[in-house]
Amino acid sequence: MIKIKTNKEIDLIRESALLVSKTLGMLAKEIKPGVTPLYLDRLAEEFIRDHGGIPGFKGLYDFPNTLCMSPNDQVVHGIPTDKPLKNGDIISVDCGVLMNGYYGDHAYTFEVGEVDEKTKKLLRITKESLYKGIDQFRAGKRVSDIGHAIQTYTEAHGYGVVRELVGHGLGKKMHEDPQVPNYGRPGRGKKFKDGMVLAIEPMINMGTHRINQLADGWTILTADRKPSAHYEHDVALINGKPELLSTFQYIYDTLGIQTDEEKPYHQVYPLNI
Ligand code: MG
Ligand code: MG
Repeated sequence: MIKIKTNKEIDLIRESALLVSKTLGMLAKEIKPGVTPLYLDRLAEEFIRDHGGIPGFKGLYDFPNTLCMSPNDQVVHGIPTDKPLKNGDIISVDCGVLMNGYYGDHAYTFEVGEVDEKTKKLLRITKESLYKGIDQFRAGKRVSDIGHAIQTYTEAHGYGVVRELVGHGLGKKMHEDPQVPNYGRPGRGKKFKDGMVLAIEPMINMGTHRINQLADGWTILTADRKPSAHYEHDVALINGKPELLSTFQYIYDTLGIQTDEEKPYHQVYPLNI
């Protein structure tokens, strides 16, 4: 059953989502060749606890760490290792926070040093597809409209849309109804209503959509070992329109990136950060 949130609950989810956003902004400074994912994981845990939150993934379904860190051909759910990042790598960082009883959950794929143009394009198209999906989260639309938009946009570039992992509702639990696939035919599933909160998260592969899982029981990687990208936002439906609860702006401030990509999604509570 899809839980409809009150405005107060949405504000609490926003607080948790923004702590994730700030954590990703802090990490953006630290992600460079030579740094290990395990070091970044410790920094993130300390940062979240210092700001009054609890790492949302650590211990959830027995996941061992604060961050899911998935470099290059890893799609999601990578366990942080002590293998240093190299120039030209990409790394998908997914972070969760539990605070005041509500979860935030969002993700960004970072470039490490100088990344080749082909991989940069995968990152750009995947992030653009996230907003194509968010554009469908409107009163009167249905769950599968999100996945249809993401699939149409990314497959037009020859990319593969991961089927086995999906977006989800978000609130007192990290994973609530509905499941939000990143593929499918339009016009299916539950109708969207004000007060719904979703984590929308395309996982897009440069090559085949097929995946494998490592023997660690967690790490998902592409079957053809080509790179994969993952971007995730937490979004509430307010007055019939999508309102971002998370933001990439802290990352952009750190990296000196100018963009107004989030501007259409902050109608109700303009972010003052
Ligand atoms: Mg996530
Ligand atoms: Mg998620």
